[in-house]
Amino acid sequence: MGRAAWTLTERRPTRQIHVGGVAVGGGAPVTVQSMTTTKTADAEATLAQIYALAAAGADLVRCTCNEEAAAEGLARIVPRSPVPIIADIHFHHEMALAALEAGVQGLRLNPGNLRKEAEIKQVAAEAKDRGVPIRIGVNAGSLHPDLYKRFGGATPEALVESARMELAYFSEVGFDDVKISVKASSVPLMIDSYRLASETFDHPLHLGVTEAGPPPAGLLKGTAGIATLLAEGIGDTIRYSLTADPVEEARAGRQLLEALGLRERKGLDLIACPSCGRAEIDVIAVAKAAQEALENRNLPIQVAVMGCVVNGPGEAREADIGIAAGRKRGHLFIKGKIVRVVPEDEMVDALVSEAERLVAEGVEARLAAADSGAEAEAEADRRELLDAQGTDANASETKVALIRKRFGEQPPAGS
Ligand code: SF4
Repeated sequence: MGRAAWTLTERRPTRQIHVGGVAVGGGAPVTVQSMTTTKTADAEATLAQIYALAAAGADLVRCTCNEEAAAEGLARIVPRSPVPIIADIHFHHEMALAALEAGVQGLRLNPGNLRKEAEIKQVAAEAKDRGVPIRIGVNAGSLHPDLYKRFGGATPEALVESARMELAYFSEVGFDDVKISVKASSVPLMIDSYRLASETFDHPLHLGVTEAGPPPAGLLKGTAGIATLLAEGIGDTIRYSLTADPVEEARAGRQLLEALGLRERKGLDLIACPSCGRAEIDVIAVAKAAQEALENRNLPIQVAVMGCVVNGPGEAREADIGIAAGRKRGHLFIKGKIVRVVPEDEMVDALVSEAERLVAEGVEARLAAADSGAEAEAEADRRELLDAQGTDANASETKVALIRKRFGEQPPAGS
């Protein structure tokens, strides 16, 4: 008889936090993170990258919030993102406040460059009011200068002390919804720092070797650090930091967790948009119906169920096939290109039969077999929907106006 596959299921106990709907720590599956490289102000380009990252295995995505335009971008991105969004904050606490205004599900603060106690507490108090967790993201390369001096360098003790000081500020305003990272570009320093952090805190730990560089060396360094700790039961969420397309980071993270038996292998990969003010269908119900219909067919493809035709096919253009809803009709798309428009009640059946043919015949053949006129029909639906819903179905512009008010600008006319 064969022996059961070995897995690394014994994790060191940590408390659990929630980044949007994703649980981190406390026995939840280890999650994969990555970070966008687009300008956050460019909401469409950033959303396209977020969808690509989610398709590659990212459970959480971080976007920089380094200027007012980036915060405004977040107000437009968050309602349409398939995964929770974490705003990355350095130097400016007002960027954290603006990101919270935009509706992000998590913040990352760098205690090495955001140092004023009153500002840190203000951000923590606001995050507490909104139920948003914060990652204390300590980095050996940007350690607080006082700590550097006190510990004679960026030692594990110095990195952990930096996190402890930030936690103390947070606890003064009653905030404890926290995960912690103590990253370094040196793998041995990173490993020792996380071991110490794991003994010191019971908060979930976010693992990463920072500035690991381009693959393959970057992948090796990331794996050496992250896998060593995971094998010791340390770590609740991970990120590879590669000088490469971030899709490679997400893919590597997912593959590592699968290789260690910490996440299940994917067969059919069904992704669905989170639904937002634009949704024309009950996305959860349609995704469930599609999952049930497709599951037993064992198709090795990625299938997207998207709530609206306005943005769905574009956002999910990395998926092999998908369906988007609009005006009682479903738009069937392959690699983001509309191939057929069908009545709403036939959407799931059409999706299943096209998925089977796609696997049997390949992408090129099925694109060539697209209904003539499908694109034009789809465009007409899209326009009709935009006319009916307006351009601010998610109230993003209202949030943008609040962000502008925070920075002392007049809200745009008509908002
Ligand atoms: S309803 Fe449309 S815009 Fe909203 S998240 Fe789904 S696909 Fe994106």
